[in-house]
Amino acid sequence: MPLPDLDFARFYDHAAITDFLTALAETRPELVCVHPITSTPEARPLLVAEITDPATGPAADKPGYLVHANIHAHELTTTHSALHLARTLCVPGEAVDALLRKVAFYVIPRLNPDGAEQALKTNASVRSRSYEREEPNGLVQRDLDGDGQVLWMRWLDPDGDHAPHPDDPRLMIRREPEDQGPFYRLVPEGEVRGADGRTPWLSDRRIDWNRQWPAFWQPEHVQGGAGDFPFSEPEMHAVGRWVMDHPNLFGMMGLHTGGNGVLRPSATRDDSELDSGDVTLLREVGAKGAELTGFPLFSVRQYCTSYSSDAKLWGHFTDWSYEHLGVLSFEIELGNLYNSAGQSTEDARTATPRQRDLAQIDVIRWNDEHGYGAFVDWRPFDHPQLGPVELGGWVRYRLANPALGELPKICEGTDAFMLHHAGLAPHLELRTDVASFDGGVHRVRAEVVNTGALPTQVTNQGAKLRSVRGVRVSLEPGEGMELLSRVAVHDVGHLAKVCGKREVEWFVRGGGEVRVTAGCARAGVAEVDGVRLL
Ligand SMILES: [Zn+2]
Repeated sequence: MPLPDLDFARFYDHAAITDFLTALAETRPELVCVHPITSTPEARPLLVAEITDPATGPAADKPGYLVHANIHAHELTTTHSALHLARTLCVPGEAVDALLRKVAFYVIPRLNPDGAEQALKTNASVRSRSYEREEPNGLVQRDLDGDGQVLWMRWLDPDGDHAPHPDDPRLMIRREPEDQGPFYRLVPEGEVRGADGRTPWLSDRRIDWNRQWPAFWQPEHVQGGAGDFPFSEPEMHAVGRWVMDHPNLFGMMGLHTGGNGVLRPSATRDDSELDSGDVTLLREVGAKGAELTGFPLFSVRQYCTSYSSDAKLWGHFTDWSYEHLGVLSFEIELGNLYNSAGQSTEDARTATPRQRDLAQIDVIRWNDEHGYGAFVDWRPFDHPQLGPVELGGWVRYRLANPALGELPKICEGTDAFMLHHAGLAPHLELRTDVASFDGGVHRVRAEVVNTGALPTQVTNQGAKLRSVRGVRVSLEPGEGMELLSRVAVHDVGHLAKVCGKREVEWFVRGGGEVRVTAGCARAGVAEVDGVRLL
């Protein structure tokens, strides 16, 4: 049975993701196991695909690498990248086979199934999830004309805060003093609750799940979108619990779309405030990511420092995974339609708000040329509360993602970076040596070596965390044998990268077989079974 092909010509809905993962697990049942982490409020399973070679032990006994995608509703092509990696791991080959013997992959192709389905099926404006609120004169997003999409509404108003783009009147730009009319109001398509004749406003309460992680979380009045408390959204709570139940996770990747870039911690601090060894590691691995994806490297803090903002992001994934868990984590921003139209991430970061508004012209020209369907021409509509308006404008999920045609190349790059990142896992090797003495006494020596590219604590931050346990080496004597040493278990602490080594020994009386194991959550388990003592 051939592996399922990934369809790069369309965006995936929940059913298509489920079908793809099911086909993958049916084709490579020995490697892939798919299960739900939770069920969403709209009753969709939040799926994770666990991929490893069980011949070298269960996933829990190996260093774990987590990839999650599509936490933000409109960032649908991140799912392609996650599914592409899952598929790549199922294509037999020397490098991938070796990696699956050492590492357990956990791929969450869509962390936010409900939000993504809403984005794709209605085109409504939603970050992760929106709660509708009944406010006087509040706008509730609805498809009014039955075309299946929540587009935009505009209408002429001498006091309107938008003006037509000087080079293309289909595009709306925010009004400045020098602009000539006609002027417009611009809001999402929807109905007005309690219309009082004034300009309606979008009154949804919008939650951004990438402001929901517990690290440096700040409440709504400090940072909009934060939610009531860390992990207050049910899916986030379930994912947080699931992560805490997987102490083997050493590396994590969050996939997003936005101006393309490889993003590393921190989202809140400057590099000078972080451990300098960790900053070096983040820069080195990040630079490799930049090389493999072709995207520029930023800290989240740098990425969010632009002409119009230098906000810190509180409650961000990279801070939680690095500061609270001590794992080596990154995000990749796969790009957006501005990138596809030829604009660089740097162009966007340094542009003034007016330049950003004007830059829509490149995107609409690209869209027109390629017939891409990211913009719907304005058409008149008689609004029940507002009277005559026009419906049209940008299709949000198309604008928020890179062009579908670029995905094969983008996914090749993200695969290469994630395979490299995962390949850095700490890895334990164990050797034993036996010497025998008079009276049936044996000395068993064990040497445990970390041959991975990362230390067993992964980061210096990890070494500070009590939850990140060091390496434990233990001996189990067989039936009828007597352990003469005081302890069977040695805690040898953390092992440095590449060749970090410790040696321990036990004395045992009697003949038979002993079992020696070395283990550490983030470096996996190594064991030598059946050491014969004669
Ligand atoms: Zn995002």
